[in-house]
Amino acid sequence: MEALQTKAKELLAAGTVQVAIGYGKGTGNARRPLFVTKPERAADLIVDAACTQNLATYLTKHEVRVMGRMAVVAVPSTLRSILQLAAEKQIREEQVLALAVIDGQVRELATFEAIEEAVATIPDAMSEADRNMIDKLSAMSVPERRAFWADELVRCVKCYACRASCPMCYCERCTTDVNRPQWIPVASHAVGNLEYHVMRAMHLAGRCVECGTCGKACPVGIPVHLLTIYAEDSVRRQFGQRGGASAKLDYAMSTFKPDDKEEFIR
Ligand code: SF4
Ligand code: SF4
Repeated sequence: MEALQTKAKELLAAGTVQVAIGYGKGTGNARRPLFVTKPERAADLIVDAACTQNLATYLTKHEVRVMGRMAVVAVPSTLRSILQLAAEKQIREEQVLALAVIDGQVRELATFEAIEEAVATIPDAMSEADRNMIDKLSAMSVPERRAFWADELVRCVKCYACRASCPMCYCERCTTDVNRPQWIPVASHAVGNLEYHVMRAMHLAGRCVECGTCGKACPVGIPVHLLTIYAEDSVRRQFGQRGGASAKLDYAMSTFKPDDKEEFIR
């Protein structure tokens, strides 16, 4: 923790960055996002096992970007988010610097190349519990899987905390908010909830970085991250592409090859 505070203080004092986005003390043992703009406040930064939220969510927010160059405290999935956002042209190298926390060590990663190298050595961001659940879902028949999600998603209250917490849900105007035409029903009910979550999972297929932040944000305990991780996993198996592996990635779901083995492409 001291190494992180010292590094953030140095970067802010030297003017290398204008804001350090990290974790601070929240209610009880919880941690909350902290935006440090003064070197003397770097001592408020915390790193411990409770710091799990993916802070890359703030890298695309206008009100944060106008502060200047950002240093972001990055767990492995945050590093992947930075690369995916770069690949999607949502962030430029000169706008961000990662303070990577890997195995208790703090590393300053100032280029996308350095982040790519670090990400390449990180095996899998998924927790063992999530991996087991993905394996369990994969082993289900389609009707069983549909029944599983129908049971879970009927509880959704459409608060959109999952969308707000996700670094890859950065559209200024989400399809969900469009009401002319009304693509997704505003009210919370079984069919409308399913439509929202299928739409979100399709938009995150191959782009989700498996941070699990959306699932942790859900106030009614729906493991909604498993839906997007499952979609990401499918793209990985079928196209060999991992979300957030490279800043120059050609996104599998938005490119095609004329000689694709599937008939529909011709
Ligand atoms: S969909 Fe959920 S698990 Fe995937 S990147 Fe977004 S917040 Fe993380
Ligand atoms: S956070 Fe949970 S309750 Fe809120 S919209 Fe997402 S799944 Fe539904």
